[in-house]
This record gives sequence, structure tokens and C-alpha cells, in this order.
Amino acid sequence: MAPASDRSARGKRQGPPRHIFITGGVVSSLGKGITAASIGRLLINMGYRVRIQKLDPYLNVDPGTMNPFQHGEVFVTDDGAETDLDLGHYERFLGQPCSRNSTYTSGRIYQTVINHERAGRYNGGTVQVVPHITNEIKEAIRSALDDDVDVLITELGGTVGDIEGLPFMEAVRQFRHEAGRDHVALCHLAYIPYIKAAGEIKTKPAQHSVQKLREIGLIPDFLLCRSEERLGKDVKEKLALFCNVDMKHVIELHDVAHSIYEVPMLIYRQGLHNLLAERLNLPIVDCPMNDWELMLRHIRNPKGTLRVALVGKYINHQDAYKSVTEAIDHAGYANLLSIDLVRIESDGLEKDENWRQQFNDIDAVVVPGGFGRRGFEGMLRAIEHCRSHGIPFLGLCLGMQAASVEFARNVLRLDGANSVEMDDKTPHPIIVLMEEQKQVMQLGGTMRLGAYPCTLPRRSSRTSKAYGGADVVEERHRHRFEFNNDYRHAFEEAGMLFTGLYQPDAQQPEASLVEIIELRDHPYFIATQAHPEFKSSAVIPHPLFKALITATWRQRNAAAE
Ligand code: GLN
Repeated sequence: MAPASDRSARGKRQGPPRHIFITGGVVSSLGKGITAASIGRLLINMGYRVRIQKLDPYLNVDPGTMNPFQHGEVFVTDDGAETDLDLGHYERFLGQPCSRNSTYTSGRIYQTVINHERAGRYNGGTVQVVPHITNEIKEAIRSALDDDVDVLITELGGTVGDIEGLPFMEAVRQFRHEAGRDHVALCHLAYIPYIKAAGEIKTKPAQHSVQKLREIGLIPDFLLCRSEERLGKDVKEKLALFCNVDMKHVIELHDVAHSIYEVPMLIYRQGLHNLLAERLNLPIVDCPMNDWELMLRHIRNPKGTLRVALVGKYINHQDAYKSVTEAIDHAGYANLLSIDLVRIESDGLEKDENWRQQFNDIDAVVVPGGFGRRGFEGMLRAIEHCRSHGIPFLGLCLGMQAASVEFARNVLRLDGANSVEMDDKTPHPIIVLMEEQKQVMQLGGTMRLGAYPCTLPRRSSRTSKAYGGADVVEERHRHRFEFNNDYRHAFEEAGMLFTGLYQPDAQQPEASLVEIIELRDHPYFIATQAHPEFKSSAVIPHPLFKALITATWRQRNAAAE
């Protein structure tokens, strides 16, 4: 399927931009982000120009300083914003990049208002939630629009009824009033539980959450019903009547088999795209889904399965490596394979005497990014195992730093080699603090963040081949430490190739930063300082992940012969 930007535009915009707001009710973790992204995908397939954003009610200025155990992965945009992982879903489903304006938190909104107050911008007036905070929220919504946008989808984080969500709800109410009802649609995603003991589907929690919305003057146009079971006509009629929504606007979102990429088809089959266009006074046009369907057929009919281990320290949180696990799956789809992901806790490897057994049935290993000392030695063990047993390996950010330390210790025999992040007194500092990071005291938005170009100097390397022979690629970053160039020569002598470099200054090639390393004479051993996982989608899988899975499958078949 062509990415959104390649699709023929619909020509002139049909009047003012339209808005779709998505709220959530009853419980969190309903998949609001996936639903918002699926709606966006359908509108793009209709030829509309779509933007998508998330407003989060928590007080952190951004999720950059939040613990992955609590909040899951921090997703990084090209322009270097540290954001909520839902932006990852947006990019993966829509096939277009998000930006800083695709995400706002209460913290960021309040910070702007307080900065304005300190700068005297309110001329001595009393600064209040209404109108100052609500105005700033409306400004945040408008910031995601550009001249081209036909439809902006705005997802409101949290659950209706949360105290901190109220200013956002009020801002949406005002926004709807000002933009005109014909141009704004409200979708409420609510959980419809099935009570096993009673054998019944219950609509009451959804009714109550709609009541909560009504209290603040918001009447949903669409009720999106998240459930484990199919609802049936009588349940839908009841929901329509008591939630005051048209019967045809009650949309079922029951659990899907196989993958989240089924969700666009689920809502497509119920015609939500046409109903939204009708509601927003946009022309109802064709919405071709053939390419998406083809992709789903590949997902549903794999020719085999590979076991891929993910070795990290935040393994117990389902979403801490969301983009990584997605990228591994995408690479599986591209190779017509399904992936059996085995999560291995890296500190567990340190404590387990028989740790090698944990890799007995593993076909490939990915070591993802991370921070701090805990679990680092376990990552080194996993990497040593891959290097010495010819198991395909991909290292990401900290995974690349760990691969370098492992090589220094076990191949170059540099005792005590380490990253200074783990041991600032190491005799062999293989990974060191980046020059510009030495002065940084403040947390939040202060790492090397966002997209940087990377040149691929070695045409014959696996890295270069994976990237299709490109001279320069662009990948996203989020780190403070880097490979110490003093060790480059020794590494090269011992068989490590530097296959990706960042050249901050063309006049000083020796000052380049190591971006990608690759081990010679190994089926697949590549590690990158970047986070390629952020740029992978089901439609266009990331080349490094795709090549990892291709090499692994080849190796598996060779072993079977
Ligand atoms: N902790 C390492 C650094 O700051 C790696 C960061 C990461 O994996 N995102 O450089």
C-alpha cells in the first residue's frame, strides 16, 4: 500500500477542517489509540488529508522522564519530541510522521500558561483554568492543523469522569461550539462488559459514562463499543436508546483474532468511514482496502514460525518495548512468518547458573534500548551467546553499546571494559558521555533526540544491503552516550565493521559518531545507536528488522537440510 503522502490528494479542501474527538469511558486500556489510528487509516484511504494528535491529562510535561514500567515505551518523533506510545500507533497505521504538535499534556499546557503569566502576557488579570488553560488547549488543537488538513483526529487521554480531564472536555465543548457542530464529530469509546456468571452483556457502565459526558455538555455522535463478545441487535438498540445515539452510529469493536491491524477492517465493514463523512458533511467517496486486506491475508497465513527473544530490563511491562515488538512482527509479516516472541529478563540471566539454556530454542535475539546499570551484565551474556553461537542478533541503542562492551571484554580481552554509564571508573571506557551532554543537568528533552542522518560507507556490508544500497539513511535517536572513537582501530582489526556513521562536521571525518556496527563472518550481527523500530510499519517494515528475520529463516532452513 502506498504511504499516505504518495496517495493522490483530493484536490481542494472541502471547506474548513473537520474534527473528530475521541473520548474513552468506563476503564482505561481500551485501545483508544488503535481505534483513532484505524479511523485515520480509513479516511486516508478515502483520499482525505488527515492529522492526528493526543491530549494527555497528566502533569508531566512529556513522558520522557516517566518510568517505562508505569507508562510503557517513550515514542520519539523525527523532530525530537518524547511522546506517548499511542503516537507510534498513529504513525504505524497512517504511514505518516507525527510531530511535537501531535501531543500535548496538561503539564505542557500549564507550563505555557505559567510562563505567559510570568512574562506579564495577561496584563495583570487573574489567571484561571477557564479561560486561560482551556484557551491554551484549543490553541494546542489548532497547532496540529496546517493549510492542507481535511480532518484532524484528536484523542483525549484518560477516562471520562477523571478530575484532571475536565479542562480538556470543557475545551472540546467550546471548540465544538465555535467550529460548528457540522464540522465536529464526537466518538465515545466505552467498555461493554460481559458478565460470565449472569451470561449477560451489561450496558449500564457505558450509559453512565455517556451521562458523565453529558454533564459537561458533550453529547457523543458515535458510540464505539469495546467488548470481548459480539453485541447483538438488542444490546445495540438498548445502547442507542439510553446513550442517545443513532442506532447506526453504535459501532462494535469486539476482540479481533490475529492482530491489531484487523481493526480498520472491523470498522470499515460497519461503514464508520462513510458515517463519519456524512456526519462531517464531507463527500462520501470510495475507500479502497485491497492492499490492507492483502497484508492481513499474509498475517493470517504464515508459512512458518520463528522464536525471537527480546532481552531487556522492562520485559514485565507489556508495552515497554511496543515499537520493538511491533517492528519484529512487521518483519515477520514481510517474510510470511509468524513470530513467537520470548521475553527474557536480562537481570534474570545474571542470576541463573544455567542461563544458556534459556536460549535453547531461540532462533534470533534482539537487545533493545534502556537506561542504567540493572540488567546490563545479563544483556552482555545474551550478546556473547549470539556472537559465539552464530545466532542472528540485532542491538538497538543500549543494545549496540552492550554489543561493543561485550566485544571489548571477550574478543579484545580488555578486562573491566564498560560503558561509563555503568562504571565511571572503568579502565576501558568503550562507551562515553557525548561531548554536548557533559554540561546537561536538567532531565527531560535533553538527550540527543530525533532524526539524524547516517552514512553507510561499506557497500558490501549486510547493513548496506539491508538498506537497499542507500548512501544515507535517517533514523531517530534518544541517548546520552556514544562509542568511544579511541577504540575504533582495535575493533576493526578484530573483525568489527563500522557500517553506519554520523558526520557532524564534513571537515573533520575523524570526529564522526559510530551509528551502526556489524560483525564480520556471522549470519547476522548488527547493532545500531539509533531506534529504527520507531520507523517500522506493517506496510513498510524496517529494513534492519526485515533482514534479521530473513537471515534467521535462511539459517533455520539451512540447519534443517
Ligand atoms: N542509556 C544509553 C544512553 O543514554 C542508551 C539509551 C537508549 O537505549 N535509549 O546512551
